[in-house]
Amino acid sequence: MFANDMETIKTIKAMRESVAAARRAGKKIGFVPTMGALHEGHASLVDAARASCGWVAVSIFVNPIQFAPTEDLASYPHPLEKDLELCRARGADVVFVPDVNEMYPPDRPRLTDVSIRELGDALCGRSRPGHFTGVCTVVAKLLNIVGPDKLFLGAKDYQQATILRRMILDLDYPVDAVVCPTVRESDGLAMSSRNAYLSAGERGQAPALHGSLLLAAEMIRKSRPPAEQVVAAMKEFITARAPAGKIDYIQICDSESLRDVPETRGLVLVALAVRFDKARLIDNIVVE
Ligand code: AMP
Repeated sequence: MFANDMETIKTIKAMRESVAAARRAGKKIGFVPTMGALHEGHASLVDAARASCGWVAVSIFVNPIQFAPTEDLASYPHPLEKDLELCRARGADVVFVPDVNEMYPPDRPRLTDVSIRELGDALCGRSRPGHFTGVCTVVAKLLNIVGPDKLFLGAKDYQQATILRRMILDLDYPVDAVVCPTVRESDGLAMSSRNAYLSAGERGQAPALHGSLLLAAEMIRKSRPPAEQVVAAMKEFITARAPAGKIDYIQICDSESLRDVPETRGLVLVALAVRFDKARLIDNIVVE
């Protein structure tokens, strides 16, 4: 269906040249940043980019500065050939796969960070201090390298999408952020590169995370109970069905400020993170 001449580019210079050529040809540039180990969730972003942009770039870069020393940087999966195949099959024009020295030259230690107040300290920011500074810094760099018209992000990482949308506004990046729905396995588990770390037993239990979000949505829609009542019901649900998981947080927040709310009125975000042995999984639902 698509031409098979997808380019794989490793340097910033070559990437800039490739984008410039696409621009000269009058193409609208769509950009999908990823850390690789691609699945249907990522593919849905490529599809969305393909549907509205004449030229689609995907980046695959496992960004070391968004991982704490205790996290899974060293074991993060790198199935590059398979990833390139998926990008080609879904019609990407270019895949940008810089190595770490290209993005962070060892002879030029980085003195600049992009960090975001408040939004970056909530939810996952509490258990992953510095994480969103790493995310904002790399996405700022990637936006400066690619210069896309549209940036495609997944709702699965709701906080990340909220933060990047705000960074784009605060720093006047001339790009539209498009947030695409979470793609799930048939049993409801949100697709994630980290699902591969789950043991068979944990994989059997993990759909309880989504189950607890559906329970929360049902409770909120039915009777708008106080947030703590919803959180308590979700905890009970997860503890009973996913005993291998340790709850990192379950929070009910304002869907824009990400501040905890005591009442479940208006548009609320229900977000959770649960740690299994080798994988920390996140998921969320927005309830109107
Ligand atoms: P990652 O490779 O985990 O950094 O994710 C790259 C992009 O894919 C981010 O915008 C994610 O939100 C998005 N993404 C990851 N998993 C999913 C999913 N299950 N559904 C939709 N988007 C996703």
